[in-house]
Amino acid sequence: MSLNEELINILTDTERFLKQQQELYGHTIFTQKSEPVSAGLTQMPVVPEIDLFGSAAEPKISHHKTGESILPALPKESWTGTKSLEELNSAINTCMKCGLGKTRIKFVFGVGNPKADVVVVGEAPGADEDEKGEPFVGRAGQLLNKILEAVQFKREEVFICNILKCRPPNNRDPQTEEVDCCEPYLWKQLEIVKPKMILCVGRIAGQSLLKTNSSLTLLRGKVHDYRGIPLMVTYHPAALLRNPNWKRPCWEDMQQFRKLYDDMKSGKS
Ligand code: URA
Repeated sequence: MSLNEELINILTDTERFLKQQQELYGHTIFTQKSEPVSAGLTQMPVVPEIDLFGSAAEPKISHHKTGESILPALPKESWTGTKSLEELNSAINTCMKCGLGKTRIKFVFGVGNPKADVVVVGEAPGADEDEKGEPFVGRAGQLLNKILEAVQFKREEVFICNILKCRPPNNRDPQTEEVDCCEPYLWKQLEIVKPKMILCVGRIAGQSLLKTNSSLTLLRGKVHDYRGIPLMVTYHPAALLRNPNWKRPCWEDMQQFRKLYDDMKSGKS
């Protein structure tokens, strides 16, 4: 191997590593000796060895109510008065508030049961979603379906949407102005659907809805509060495709999520 090829390999590995670090810990870089990583990891519940999305294990739940966050009110715009998801979709799907309106193929409103108990929130549409106008239809979407099925939720039974309704070019992270323009649409969707629980997949979805800069490590394994609705955060399926080692902790998160859901349904919590 030439020196050039070796350098390219090292740079590719470093890039992949940093991307994974960013997904887990946000923009903070941790060294092996840093406290936050070990503190976050030791909070995670210990579950028996099992296969990924396989047979059930006894879930151990650590409740960390973060308290109701102070969230902004809806802007004073006509769509805020809509009463159903169809009405809301018609009112907003020609949105041109940010630059993504010009580059999108389709506006990706969301899909699923309008009276769902569970709303799944992702980051933003990718190329497949932009083309089809439906969230989570690509490879990450297939994995999301499996993750949901592993804890007995069917895709059609939940409602699935994203923080951003339009695809950021080259799948880059959403920009602050884009989130500021688009996220009120999600708040309105949640106001209409009134879910019993919210599942955020990925750091960006969790950080946006909870208005926090906490890393994914700190957001996972806890029950947060979005305007009185219990909210949990787990890995983004696209991150699991890149790093299958995270499937196991994701499975553990989903066990917690299901247990809390069942407890709520049976009136235990
Ligand atoms: N990733 C997301 O966050 N949302 C989608 O809809 C697709 C991929």
